[in-house]
Formats: sequence, C-alpha cells, structure tokens
Amino acid sequence: MSWWRRLLGDRISVGVMKSEADEPAAKVVKSEQEWREQLTPEEYQVLRKAGTERPFVGQYTDTKTVGVYKCRACGAELFRSETKFDSHCGWPSFFTPLAGDAVIEHTDRSMGMARTEVVCANCHSHLGHVFSGEGYGTPTDLRYCINSISLTLEPEQT
Ligand SMILES: [Zn+2]
Repeated sequence: MSWWRRLLGDRISVGVMKSEADEPAAKVVKSEQEWREQLTPEEYQVLRKAGTERPFVGQYTDTKTVGVYKCRACGAELFRSETKFDSHCGWPSFFTPLAGDAVIEHTDRSMGMARTEVVCANCHSHLGHVFSGEGYGTPTDLRYCINSISLTLEPEQT
C-alpha cells in the first residue's frame, strides 16, 4: 500500500462527509480583527471569507519546487510538492493532502452547486475545493484545487 493511501485512509471516498458537528475544533482560534491584522486584505478574503483567487495568476500555480506547502494563516503543514500535478486548471492542484487529518472537507452549497470545500484542520481557514473522478490519472483521482494565496511553500533544505 502506498504512503499516501495509508495516510488518507478512509477519507479517500470524497462525498462521504461526516457531519460538521463531528469536525475537530480549530486549534488556532483568532478573532476577525486579529486575522485582519495578521493577513493582507487579499489573504483575508480567501482564507477567512472563502474567496477564490483568479486562475493562472497565483504564486504557486506552476511551481515545481520541492518542499512542503503550509497554511498561510497558521503554518500547519498541508501538502507536499510530490503530490502536486499539472491540472492546467489555473490553480495549484494536489492529489492528496500530506496527512489525512491535515485538512477538513465539507459540502459547500454556495454558487448554486454542491462542491466540497477544503479547510485547514488546524485553523479552519479556507484553502480551496476538492474534486473527484475527473480522470487526471493521478493515484487518487482527486484534485485538491487550492488557492496559492492560502499557502506558503517552504522549500526543502538541500
Ligand atoms: Zn491553518
């Protein structure tokens, strides 16, 4: 069994959502005022207001640098560069988070469709959405479509 499947465990089946009451509480909790002071207006809009940055303009859309992508709001490690792939969708795309409990997924019914929102498990900031069954040929057939502005890449020390 591959390392990512072990990590992902039973979360591999997107669409089978636990109720929000079962969600782990955020370990990092700040007031809206504190978030506004810590983040730029653009970061705040995406991370705390579930905004979406425009496609193809994000800092990490085509980045190949080896390293770990951390939550820009709280610094939690979320994704590894090895699971990033070229989706050509305009946003950084990963086929799995680096650990099954690094992110929380729940149904987002905004914009007249049911999508699966991905938030940081540590601080509950908005990261992006996850889509399944698109046929990208990745090991999971999942696409974690994540806003660059929600992430900070920490390049691996060589
Ligand atoms: Zn976070």
